[in-house]
Amino acid sequence: MVKVPQLRQSLLDWYTAAGRTLPWRKTQDPYAIWISEVMLQQTQVKTVIPYYERWLDWFPAIAPLAAADQQQVLKAWQGLGYYARARNLHRAAQLITAQHNGIFPTDLAVVTTLPGIGRTTAGGILSAAFNQAVPILDGNVKRVLARLIALPVPPHKALNVLWQHSTQLLDPQRPRDFNQALMDLGATICTPKNPSCGSCPWQMHCQAYNLNKQSEIPMTESRTATPHKSIGVAVIWNEHGQILIDRRRQEGLLGGLWEFPGAK
Ligand code: SF4
Repeated sequence: MVKVPQLRQSLLDWYTAAGRTLPWRKTQDPYAIWISEVMLQQTQVKTVIPYYERWLDWFPAIAPLAAADQQQVLKAWQGLGYYARARNLHRAAQLITAQHNGIFPTDLAVVTTLPGIGRTTAGGILSAAFNQAVPILDGNVKRVLARLIALPVPPHKALNVLWQHSTQLLDPQRPRDFNQALMDLGATICTPKNPSCGSCPWQMHCQAYNLNKQSEIPMTESRTATPHKSIGVAVIWNEHGQILIDRRRQEGLLGGLWEFPGAK
């Protein structure tokens, strides 16, 4: 890609002036950053903030999280959805305790073996906590890069191309700031609808903007319809006033949580 130095510098200048102040940016503790990255995987920033702060009150480090009962962990997660994330955090904390002396690993290949940590989450943690030059490719970044290069196919069909661009653009001198700037650009300027191209530091280099195709890119494919299911639930109690509840299997939707017995 041409103009890499200009793209880096203009993004970093914009970030210095307009980057977001977020609680997990005030720390370089890999544990706290890891928690924020996992919470942010499928949840918006404003929802995550109170959960993040409460989680760190309950489980301030890897050791107390590893030692906690799973029900406590799921309780702390209650309301955030996608509970597999909480179960994976818990299991990963136990693995770090057992295999890495309770210290968050710093090697990308090792970090991506931990449950619930894929390549982009690992990049987010390692760049933010250790200033390592490891790229990221979350939903925001895919959208920004797809527009920057006017990607002619949906992002999921060109992940290798997008990873290459994220890697090539990443500023090796300031990887922490660069990755956070890229996320902020996607979250606040290069938004899914009506991007604020007039305020964008990459406007003059952006191919989608130059082709006036920013509302068509990233391209999408029609989604399969959301399935609808009817579920019958029974509330059953005995003469002692005890109510029958059932625990869901660990795997799958809402795994490990309690519910009234029922069936689809
Ligand atoms: S110019 Fe517009 S479409 Fe292009 S990266 Fe900036 S905000 Fe996104």
